Order: sequence, then C-alpha cells, then structure tokens
Amino acid sequence: MSDTSTNTASLLSHLGPLASRFAIAWIDSCASTNSSLMERMPGDDGRAHVLVADRQTAGRGRRGRQWQSWPEGSLTFSLLWRFAAGTPAPAGLSLAAGLAVARTLERIGVSGVQLKWPNDVLVNGEKLVGILVELQPARDRSLAAVIGIGINISLPPGAHVEHHAGVTDLARALESPPPSRPALLAHLLAELQQLFDLYAVAGFTALKSAWEQRNAFAELPVRISGEHAAVDGICRGVDDDGALLLDTADGIQRILAGDVSLRPLGGESA
Ligand code: ATP
Repeated sequence: MSDTSTNTASLLSHLGPLASRFAIAWIDSCASTNSSLMERMPGDDGRAHVLVADRQTAGRGRRGRQWQSWPEGSLTFSLLWRFAAGTPAPAGLSLAAGLAVARTLERIGVSGVQLKWPNDVLVNGEKLVGILVELQPARDRSLAAVIGIGINISLPPGAHVEHHAGVTDLARALESPPPSRPALLAHLLAELQQLFDLYAVAGFTALKSAWEQRNAFAELPVRISGEHAAVDGICRGVDDDGALLLDTADGIQRILAGDVSLRPLGGESA
C-alpha cells in the first residue's frame, strides 16, 4: 500500500462510525486542495468530501496570499460542506471553522489556543493554523462551502514563512509528540461536523460566546486594513453573524470578513 492509502485507511479507522459521513481522497500532491475541490465540485451524494494532499505546490491564503507547507511537516486539506437553502449568512463560517480547530487542539492537549478574527488560530500569539473559506452558491439557494485548513505539525529546521513573524507548530505547542496526521484529521473532522451541524440550524449566535472566550484581541486596540482605508479601534468582540465589533472614534463599527469569496453560478452544484 502507498502512504496515501495507508493514511486513508488509518483516517477511516480513527473516524469509526463517523466515516460514512465523509468521502475521503488522500493524494500525494496538487496545486491547492481548495482549488481542486472548487474546480471539480463533486456531486451531492450526502457526504462531506475531503481532499488531503501531502504536498501543495501553490497553497493559497486569503486575497492571493500564499500558504506554505512541508510534506510530513504539515497537514493540508479541504472539506466541501453543503448548507441547505436558508442557512444563516455565511459570514460566520470562517469563525465556526476556526473554533472547531481551536477545540480540537485543546482536546489533544494544546494550551494557550487563541482565535484571531476572522480566520487564524494562534497559540500564545503565534500562528499555527490558516483557514480559507470559499463559497459557491447554487441555483436552489443552497451553498457549497470549501473550507481549506493548513496546520503546521512540525516545521523543518530553518523553515522560513514569508511575511509572518510569529509562527509555531504542534511539536512546539505540545509537550508530547503530536498525533499522526490521520489521527489529527479524524479529530478535526469530528469537531467540524459537530459545529457545522449546529451552525446550520442555529447560526453563529450559538457559537459566539465560545469564539469570544478565545478571542486573541479582546478589548485590545487593533487596526483593520484591507481594500479601504485602515480603521483603528478597540476590539469589542463579534456580532451574532460573526462581524467584528470595532469601537472607533466614531462609535461601534461592524467589520465584515473579507475572507469569503463568492463565485458566480455554475458547476455541478448549481
Ligand atoms: P495574517 O495571518 O497576516 O493576518 P491572513 O489571515 O490574511 O493574514 P491567511 O490567508 O490565513 O492570512 O494565510 C496567509 C498568510 O499566512 C501568509 O501571507 C503568511 O504570512 C502566513 N503563512 C503562510 N504559510 C504559513 C505557515 N505555514 N504558518 C504560519 N503562517 C503562514
């Protein structure tokens, strides 16, 4: 058996009874697991499709940024989750995904896990995980969400991450050796499906206080910058839909995440 089939078998065994909810493809390499799933958009067979790649040659972050990974040193995968028509506004999805990752890390023994709005997971201020959510709406108003997650498990010596000072990995964040990638992924998928099921029926409101408990910048001054002029203020937490509440000189401003990209109708999901 190749490593990828060994890994798939191990993942299925760690998932146990949950395995039937997922369609797993574990491959050697691709440009980006998010791009592959968005382009291929598997038909709806009632399962959540998961694409794991040992190596990404063009891993993506938000707004054209790069996500760096190292075979064996990283876990990079994307999950296709379908939400029925009428699901609450997708703005909170990145936050729900971040919370699922944070809870998984806590369960395996990481302390000091923090969430940085909208989509980063930090450990004591250093970035351990990146999340990229991309959406494809269908004609029946259901929504296909592709959630890409990259986790640093054990960065090789001398690994340099561009444009980012504080970076960490699981090997440093844990006192014992990190779990295997299939075991870690099984924990993550279990947590993601639990929180997405809750999100689908109750929206982000149901997850808001758990998110805020881990907010890395609660009551701290922050600057929000992006396509428009930068805005400074104190971070007052998040709204019921996942928007950031920024206390500025002009009063409270709701900042919407710029990490969610909508694509035009098309593909099999339409
Ligand atoms: P930031 O982390 O600066 O707030 P962002 O949330 O927009 O940015 P993402 O889209 O989550 O960032 O990820 C892309 C960025 O993450 C890159 O620009 C780089 O700074 C950083 N990065 C890339 N690879 C890694 C990695 N393996 N570990 C930690 N950070 C990384």
